Parts: sequence; C-alpha cells; structure tokens
Amino acid sequence: MLSRAFINETALLLNEAGFVIATCGTWQSILGQEGMQLVGQRWWDYLHPQDRLGMQALWQRTLAQPGRTVWGRCWLRRVSGGWVRVSVMLVNQLTNPDVRAVVMTVDRDVEEVADGLEITRVQGRGYDLALALTHQQLVLHYQPVVAVGTGLPVGFEALVRWQHPSWGLLGPGEFLPLAEANGLIGPLGEWVLDQALRQLAEWQERWPTPLQMHVNVAPVQLTNPSFVSAVAAALTAHGLQANQLVVEMTEGALVGEVATIHATLTQLQELGVAVALDDFGTGYSSLGRLHDLPIQYLKIDRLFVRGMGPRAQAIVTAMVNLGVGLGLTVVAEGVESEIQWRWLQWLGCPLAQGYWFSYPLPSEQVLDFLAATRGSSLST
Ligand code: C2E
Ligand code: MG
Ligand code: MG
Repeated sequence: MLSRAFINETALLLNEAGFVIATCGTWQSILGQEGMQLVGQRWWDYLHPQDRLGMQALWQRTLAQPGRTVWGRCWLRRVSGGWVRVSVMLVNQLTNPDVRAVVMTVDRDVEEVADGLEITRVQGRGYDLALALTHQQLVLHYQPVVAVGTGLPVGFEALVRWQHPSWGLLGPGEFLPLAEANGLIGPLGEWVLDQALRQLAEWQERWPTPLQMHVNVAPVQLTNPSFVSAVAAALTAHGLQANQLVVEMTEGALVGEVATIHATLTQLQELGVAVALDDFGTGYSSLGRLHDLPIQYLKIDRLFVRGMGPRAQAIVTAMVNLGVGLGLTVVAEGVESEIQWRWLQWLGCPLAQGYWFSYPLPSEQVLDFLAATRGSSLST
C-alpha cells in the first residue's frame, strides 16, 4: 500500500473518469509551474496522439486491477508547449479510504523536446513486423457495434494492435503503413480475418444470439484474386454464416484498380458477405461511385460525428439520409457522448460505435460485456 508520504512526494491524483483532482510534489518540477493547472483536466488530453491508444489500455487495466501497479511510458504535453517523455505508474486506490483516487506517479525520461514531436518510432527503430506475425505479437481488440435505438450490441469490429515487447501496445496507425510498405499487409490481413472469425465462433458457442464481425481490409487485399475464396474458406472453417461477416474498406480503395475491386465486392455480395464503406466522407468516394458500388453499409467518419456544430450536424444529417435513401445500413463512428447518441437516435441512424458505448475490448472481456447488456439497455 502507498504511504501518504509517497503520494505527496511524486503523485497526481486522478478520479475514476481520469480527471486530475490534485497534483503533488515533483509533478510541478516535471511539467513546470503551469503543470499545476492540470487540476480539473483529464490527464490523457495531455498525451501525444501516438500514445493515446496504449495509455487507454493502461488506464482500463488500472481500473480493473485495484491495488496493482501498472506501468507505461508516454509523451506529455507541457501546458506552455513542448513535450516531455515520462514513465508513469498508475495504482488504483479508489477503494482505499485514505486515498480514494487513482495515483499516478511520474518519472521523467532523458528525452525531451522543445516543440513538436516527430513520430520516429516506426521509421527509426526498424521494427520487425514479420517477426511480430510469427511470434504472435499481434492482437485484436473488439469494439462493439450497437443498435442506436437500444444501445445494445449487434456485432463487433476487429481492430488490430501490436503488443510490442519493448514499446507496449501499438495502434494500427503506427505499423500498418510499415506493413503496406513491406508487403506484409496481405499475411497480416489473412491473420486478422482468420483470428476474428475464430473468435466470433468461440463467443457464439456461449452467446446464442447471432453477432456480426466487422473486419477491416486493406485495398491490396481486395485486388488479390484469391481473397473471396479465402473469405469463404475462413467462414466454413469456423462454421459461420456469410451474413455474420462485414468486410470494411476505406474510400482509399477506390482510387486504384477500381474495376478489380468492384468485381471483388460483387463476388462478396454473391457469397452473402456484406461490405462497408469505412470513414465515409473523408476520402475519395464521389456520389457517382456510391451510386453503383456493391456495398451494404456506410460508416460515417467520427470526424463528423464528433463536431456537434451546426455544419457538422447538417453533414451527418445529410449522410444518414443519403445512406438510408440508398438502402444502406448506416453506422455512425466515434460517438463519445450521450448527446451525440440521442441525436443519432433522433436522426434515425440505425447503428453506431464509439467510446460512449465501449472502448475496443480485449477478447477476454467481450463475453462479460455481452453478459452485462443482457436484459438491459443503455438507454435506461
Ligand atoms: P476504423 O476502421 O475507422 O476504426 C475505428 C477507429 O476509431 C479505431 O481506431 C477505434 O479505436 C477508434 N474509435 C472508436 N470509437 C471512437 C471514439 O468514440 N472516439 C475516438 N476518438 N476514436 C474512436 P484504431 O483501432 O486506432 O484503428 C484505426 C484504423 O486502423 C481503423 O479505422 C482501420 O482503418 C485501421 N485498422 C484497424 N485494424 C485493421 C486491420 O486489421 N486491417 C486493416 N487493413 N486496417 C485496420
Ligand atoms: Mg473500420
Ligand atoms: Mg472508420
């Protein structure tokens, strides 16, 4: 157990929602006088984007493990600008009557930069992604896709992460570009598809209501002539119905070999597998393309859902109406608040995803998540 002296020496105290409720001791010397202004702020708002995912996972682990010390490293933004690299230790002391907080202790690393921060990890460190594949360092997290009306899950989206031995959990943005550049995206995609379907089949043994699995695929997978047969084989191998799979492709896929991709999508449709156009509104798809593209789902990028201003609202309203009018199932991404959710209900958007409903979950938490929703609705 931590002593009060220890807390006073080095700590930030955080409440369950991640807000800083007090700063003590060396905190000030690390982030400067202005670091004290963090009281009332959420600590992860001061993280560099490249660390958010890893720290989110760390935070979830901390909340799940009262008393245990969880450790990580991240870049923190100084209030006055610039970044400082720190090691953080988090201990959940929420149930300790003396503390009633999550205690975050901070150690400063040697690296420090004055302004800006180059993301050098991917380029500079020479990651061996092939090794990650063969050494089973890749993992999938699963984010629920919920029915907007009830807030209850109808499926999950598989999101890949790299459990790097020294850097911790890396998000796809940090290694997918490397995988694409090194020709590893094909084998990586095959692994993701197989693993996600295997996992779904396992859950369905314990969860009788049919669920769907959304799997992201890279453009190069869609131009591979054996992609559709690999999908069919994976479904058969795991005893799943074709309509339990949704293949998600981004608009970026529509710039290259459009005719080939079109043919692949048609074959998927014939197989009974649905296709979602992901991150809609941020890329290259024109309305002309949307008109004859064989897709069944339209995913509105979180960029639009996040902004609640009148312009963003107008865009989302138009997108939902467009999707519904085209007979597509619309999914709003990035719902982070109840207000956004209620608004989507009001708009008649059928499906959504976002932190409001759930963060992407490690596989072992999914059945508990499902069980917790049984007979209940988030709307109550
Ligand atoms: P995506 O397919 O649009 O996935 C949604 C991303 O938004 C995920 O980020 C998810 O963690 C994040 N997200 C979900 N809800 C919220 C929210 O409420 N607020 C905010 N701010 N973010 C939210 P992630 O896991 O970093 O994935 C990023 C992208 O990487 C994915 O975007 C997808 O395009 C790609 N990706 C992930 N897994 C795979 C994969 O297995 N294969 C391929 N080819 N691409 C993948
Ligand atoms: Mg997606
Ligand atoms: Mg998306």
